[in-house]
Amino acid sequence: MKYQYWNEQFEKMPRPDLESWQLQRLRAVTATALRTPFYRERLTKAGIRNEAGIKSLEDLRRIPFTTKQDLRSGFPYGFLSIPREEVVRLHASSGTTGTPTTIYFSRDDLSRWTSFVARCIYGTGCDKTDVFQNMITYGLFTGGLGFHAGGEEVGMLVIPSGSGNTARQFRLMQDFGTTVVHATPSFLLHVESRMREEGVRRESLALKRAFAGAEPYSEDTRRRIEGLLHIDVYNSYGLSEMNGPGVAFECQCKNGLHIWEDGYIAEIVDPQTLEPVADGETGELVLTILCREATPILRYRTRDLTGFYTEPCPCGRTHRRLRRITGRSDDMLIINGVNVFPSQIEEVIMAMKEVGNNYLIVVEKDGALDRLTVKTEVGPEIFMDDARPLNALRDRIRAHLQASISINPRVELHEHGSLPISEGKAVRVKDTRPRDL
Ligand code: ADP
Ligand code: ZN
Repeated sequence: MKYQYWNEQFEKMPRPDLESWQLQRLRAVTATALRTPFYRERLTKAGIRNEAGIKSLEDLRRIPFTTKQDLRSGFPYGFLSIPREEVVRLHASSGTTGTPTTIYFSRDDLSRWTSFVARCIYGTGCDKTDVFQNMITYGLFTGGLGFHAGGEEVGMLVIPSGSGNTARQFRLMQDFGTTVVHATPSFLLHVESRMREEGVRRESLALKRAFAGAEPYSEDTRRRIEGLLHIDVYNSYGLSEMNGPGVAFECQCKNGLHIWEDGYIAEIVDPQTLEPVADGETGELVLTILCREATPILRYRTRDLTGFYTEPCPCGRTHRRLRRITGRSDDMLIINGVNVFPSQIEEVIMAMKEVGNNYLIVVEKDGALDRLTVKTEVGPEIFMDDARPLNALRDRIRAHLQASISINPRVELHEHGSLPISEGKAVRVKDTRPRDL
């Protein structure tokens, strides 16, 4: 395969050079962070009074972690490190787990962010001959404008379609010959489900690739989307605290996400002890942003669970690869004392051909016990009025789930296209159990 690089010098930089670059940047962002009230207090307490306090990359571990709670406590301007007049944009997280947090960008921050996103896009084989439909929410969410700018930087024709409205999405794809799209994996599945109803033939589309991210999904979901739409799907990972998209992305090898180590320092720690895990083990991803001056964030606990691949990538990039992010440590459900990650359920059902493209996990109280119900749509070829095959399918799903999660769930089958879909990130879990205070 012939690989293409947006910034070959940095993407293939030998590790020792990459590490000296990181050290130099880490010292610079430490100096920047010391200008914010939050880090001035935190870093001084940790004995770091100026950038000279960082002598080697190991000194990173002297810096305390930053949590989402810390960011909220600094709302609105506690993490701003440049004069307000130098800020040209703000973004906010989607607020999946509570009050959103705000991130500020200077003009240079925006251009650095854009070049990281361009690097990701170009690395999948796209170039200025492509037509790029950005089917994701615009606005405060970083996925819209982030990919928009990156796509323009590569020179593609960018269609800012936003998410939702599948009929219009198909029309745009057909009118302008869209070759690449960006969306959440759940929206891509929804688009595929709607094709038949909208009377759209695959042959009428020029689609070749999709970037899918913003929420966790399994390898089986990727394969399903690729098989149904006949495209290549690339995993895209980012978070607003670290600019948004452009943090880690798959190259054409589609085997792990290169995390751009000239822009970020990645650590993987045990979420309980906060000590680094052994190489290749799973833990919580902790990120330090090296490429932003307006809002420095050091050692941010993402809560996202992943690990490093240890072997080098055939594409020649020297930046390490993250395994698919399976979810956040706080996604874990405890059902009658058993720990279950929604991703385990997704993996089981998306691997079953007869199951449709949408599902919902419901957890409720049933007396003293917890009850898990998995609602899934059936594929378009399955009729809901034929009880026998439906019962057999339901039993099979239940058996597969029980084997994977050690809990016997209720399984409900729903007609193709009947479960609700959300415009932004998919809401896959409805947990109605009262919370302990
Ligand atoms: P929020 O934290 O409110 O959801 P963001 O919009 O910043 O706000 O979302 C970032 C989060 O989305 C990440 O921390 C991660 O949990 C999730 N995410 C983003 N991309 C992926 C991906 N490719 N795979 C799994 N999870 C992802
Ligand atoms: Zn690679």
